[in-house]
Amino acid sequence: MKELTVKVPAEKASEYRIEIGTDILSSVWPKIESQFGKAGKFIITDANVAKAGQLDKLVSGRNVSSYVISPGETSKNMNILVMIIEAMENAYLGRDTVVIALGGGVVGDIAGFAAAVFKRGVRVVQIPTTTLAQADSAIGGKTGVDSSLSKNAFGVFWHPSAVYIDVATLKTLDDRQYRAGLVESVKHALIADEKYFEFLESKLDAILHRQADVMEQVAYQNCRIKAQVVEADPTEKNQRRMLNYGHTIGHAVESASGFELLHGEAVAIGIVAAGMIEIEMGLGDDKRLARIKKLLTALGLAVTIPAKISKSELADIIKRDKKAINKWPRFVLIDTIGRVHRREGQWAVEVKQDVVENVLGKL
Ligand code: NAD
Repeated sequence: MKELTVKVPAEKASEYRIEIGTDILSSVWPKIESQFGKAGKFIITDANVAKAGQLDKLVSGRNVSSYVISPGETSKNMNILVMIIEAMENAYLGRDTVVIALGGGVVGDIAGFAAAVFKRGVRVVQIPTTTLAQADSAIGGKTGVDSSLSKNAFGVFWHPSAVYIDVATLKTLDDRQYRAGLVESVKHALIADEKYFEFLESKLDAILHRQADVMEQVAYQNCRIKAQVVEADPTEKNQRRMLNYGHTIGHAVESASGFELLHGEAVAIGIVAAGMIEIEMGLGDDKRLARIKKLLTALGLAVTIPAKISKSELADIIKRDKKAINKWPRFVLIDTIGRVHRREGQWAVEVKQDVVENVLGKL
């Protein structure tokens, strides 16, 4: 028998710029051209974003190959992925291609995954157009699609080469989507920055009125916080788990609602559940939870589990959480607004099943 070892050089450190502004979409293309030169460009967007005029603003009459998917989560699957990458092949695109994702998290996730697998990986530029995507999915490098059994079942980490956030794109977003997406901003404040939480409380009216200068600050704070966490733990070995605050129960609520609740709406309930667990475990108090609930309610979000969701079904879904060990996941909790509770160096900690079930019973 012969044996040899192949040393794979450590991945090169890479960085990318995030540009945030208002009404910048029509000036983004020259920047993409200057960053990537003559490389082939391919835009992926969805029909709502195109109809809202964002695609026209981005290309400003230029002839660019694009693929427009049907809006919504049902498009985030392997069949659509294959159609996209074959369309890229049909357009004679090579390994120098730059994929441009213009849209919400669905477009960003599938476009990022398409870029990661096309010709063994090409670059992607993220141009997020929802509150959720601008706060969360466009940065951090998680890409993927759903299977027929579960969400985000297939995917890879594939970081963008640039991100452009135009808060003016949010003006055409449906109100329910707009408000639900803001929950990730509340989450960022809760896990990392009390001052940012106070900012969200004090600027609530401006945020709900989509006031551009305030939304630029919101986008900046979200990117700053998420980038810090991702830089420290790019592939979610430990610290990055803190971004899951409110998500363990949130995902279960989202799934038990048959996806009638939007992700952010379910995570709002998950954040309240985390707050109740913190009280049970002596990490928080009623006053802090009341403050958090006040902000979520002011954003128009429900803070209780809808009556038609069965609590035992919820507990069962939690047991099947993809991060569960011995059929029970760990939970991210906070010590104070702005600081995650850590135990033995872990950012997600053990919480007994009866504590969680008790909280679900009261919620
Ligand atoms: P989405 O992409 O489905 O967009 C919501 C709706 O708004 C869609 O109907 C879309 O067509 C429409 N829309 C988007 N931008 C618009 C605009 N500017 N004007 C008018 N309509 C517009 O949903 P989302 O909430 O942005 O993203 C959810 C997805 O993100 C989920 O698939 C989730 O798994 C994923 N996600 C990924 C990460 C990550 O790190 N990769 C993080 C969080 C969520």
